Amino acid sequence: MKILVAVKRVVDHKVNIRVKPDETGIETANVKMVINPFCEIAIEQAVRFKEQGSADEVVLVCIGPKEAEAQLRAGLALGADRAILIRTEEEVQSLDVAKLLHKVVQQQLPDLVLLGKQAIDTDNNQTGQMLAALTDMPQGTFASDIVFTVPNKVKVTREVDGGLVTLALHLPAVITVDLRLNTPRYASLPNIMKAKRKIITMISPDSLGVSLSPRLTTLKVESPPVRQAGVKVADVADLVDKLQLQAKVI
Ligand code: AMP
Repeated sequence: MKILVAVKRVVDHKVNIRVKPDETGIETANVKMVINPFCEIAIEQAVRFKEQGSADEVVLVCIGPKEAEAQLRAGLALGADRAILIRTEEEVQSLDVAKLLHKVVQQQLPDLVLLGKQAIDTDNNQTGQMLAALTDMPQGTFASDIVFTVPNKVKVTREVDGGLVTLALHLPAVITVDLRLNTPRYASLPNIMKAKRKIITMISPDSLGVSLSPRLTTLKVESPPVRQAGVKVADVADLVDKLQLQAKVI
């Protein structure tokens, strides 16, 4: 079984995000970039399937700039076999990402495509669903558990309010993964060294016959308003008084 994992390069969640002075976006120059945390969970799951003998090959794919090679190397150090970088310096929106992934699926013919449930920079949560529609594959989203059952079938569990929902999907399928699926490992030094020799194939969006066509325009990016300092209340009566007369919420 071949597993394709879509990996996005994003700003590290530990970085204090700064908005550009012209409010067109956020500052990414000299900012630490990492694998999107949900994509890291997807890589970990694919590598576990390989270690358990359910998968033979794990292929990573990223759409991003040349520097995204670093995130692909990090994914290869976690145990993936090889990677594809669809290189572009442009901002690529979800539908175009899904169209590019669709072409890669047609070329690579994976049995399973794993994606993060969302990218933490845009919080779109739509690429996996769009890819499933374009490829006409069954989809399981927000997976907290994935189990291969009979040949060519997979069970995908997701957490919902008050319980769990489990779906049975035919392979090939698209699955987006959630936080509780696993805890990704740290790459060991020998695996980091091994990853340097693994293959990253670089291609362009044009070579896949996809011309990028953004449909959304960002009008403005603003920092959230600065939170005002809180006040201490003397007792419950004082609290009720402030909620009624100052905050006017009761
Ligand atoms: P989104 O729909 O943008 O929230 O992203 C959901 C998932 O789609 C991510 O966790 C990735 O697995 C995949 N994805 C989104 N953008 C890219 C990209 N530029 N390159 C590779 N995978 C991506």
